[in-house]
Amino acid sequence: MCEHVRNCKLCQKQMRYSAFFICKECLIEIDTIGNYIKKHPQVSVSQIAKATNLSTESAQKIITYMISRSTLFMM
Ligand SMILES: [Zn+2]
Repeated sequence: MCEHVRNCKLCQKQMRYSAFFICKECLIEIDTIGNYIKKHPQVSVSQIAKATNLSTESAQKIITYMISRSTLFMM
């Protein structure tokens, strides 16, 4: 069994095998959102989406993911 293709946990796009469960694009978005939240901890999802040029939906998805992985609190 050699599975080299998996789907990104966030955008569901197929990606090549990596150590992460999410694709590069989503990692960048997570980073961007993480940095923004660090600077503006009390900000709302729609404000984050606006500031990072993402749809509210994908911003919400990423934030939920970050919280579930506790990524938010490690940064
Ligand atoms: Zn992705």
